[in-house]
Amino acid sequence: MAARIIDGKAFAAEVRAKVAAHVAQLKEKHGITPGLAVVLVGEDPASRVYVRSKGRQTVEVGMNSYEHKLPAGTTEEELLGLIGRLNDDPAVHGILVQLPLPDHLNEALVINAINPAKDVDGFHISNVGLLATGQKAMVPCTPLGCLMMLRDVHGDLSGLEAVVIGRSNIVGKPMAQLLLRDSCTVTIAHSRTRDLPGVVRRADIVVAAVGRPEMVPGDWIRPGATVIDVGINRIDAPEKGEGKTRLVGDVHFDSAARVAGAITPVPGGVGPMTIACLLANTLTACCRAHGLPEPEGLTA
Ligand code: NAD
Repeated sequence: MAARIIDGKAFAAEVRAKVAAHVAQLKEKHGITPGLAVVLVGEDPASRVYVRSKGRQTVEVGMNSYEHKLPAGTTEEELLGLIGRLNDDPAVHGILVQLPLPDHLNEALVINAINPAKDVDGFHISNVGLLATGQKAMVPCTPLGCLMMLRDVHGDLSGLEAVVIGRSNIVGKPMAQLLLRDSCTVTIAHSRTRDLPGVVRRADIVVAAVGRPEMVPGDWIRPGATVIDVGINRIDAPEKGEGKTRLVGDVHFDSAARVAGAITPVPGGVGPMTIACLLANTLTACCRAHGLPEPEGLTA
């Protein structure tokens, strides 16, 4: 039986619509407009595209977007000064520093200078600790998006076997924490895992966040399992013409889709959920800052 294809584009559009409706209500009832500040240091072309996209989507859901584009030579002191001002600005509910930063800037220092309540990326050490201890945290956007999709497929995740491949701070580890919080039995696999196929085969839920094109073949997938493919890999596509490329995930989609119960495609799966969850986090941060009820279905 062919798997249900989880449409991340449509799902993300639903999340954005929910955010927009809640933002409209906040404005009307309380005169509050959530605001997201995005800080970009340097000229990295991919980062510029992300920042532009984040700014556009922020405005589309009715929030205020504040973009701070700083030159590559910005000093740590200057950057920390800006973060301090954004921390103190009541119109700013979310602060995101686009990563990676240029080499001369200490990423951990910069991220940990953000007020944790405004840390909509969920990377501040306090939010990492809050998540790990089951307390109210700001949750990293990509794993939050994956969790929303998994809850949509399964309803209750309690007792399910989940295998997360990859142990990064951005995806793998917070994903595992979220699944644990929803009472899954969680295994984190990584580059040193022995018998990865055997580990993946016992999973009801597989989340692949490795960054290796199509490394998980269909015959590793337990029949009926849900597969969330976080990987985004650009590979050569000579079939499309000379010099052409295409995007693939960490999972071999065609073979996995024949076995899985549900699967996210690449592109159009997890990818679109990340910015949608950033907007959801900004709204959540705004509601918390004003002591208002949090939006339903948009938090972990
Ligand atoms: P990372 O490089 O920080 O971590 C990769 C992890 O994979 C490591 O923990 C490593 O132990 C593990 N790994 C490497 N080789 C392995 C192997 N052979 N077997 C098992 N595990 C192995 O990467 P990341 O930041 O977590 O990103 C992972 C992928 O997800 C990348 O393709 C990235 O582009 C993508 N990504 C997508 C989104 C999104 O959809 N919005 C967001 C973040 C990352």
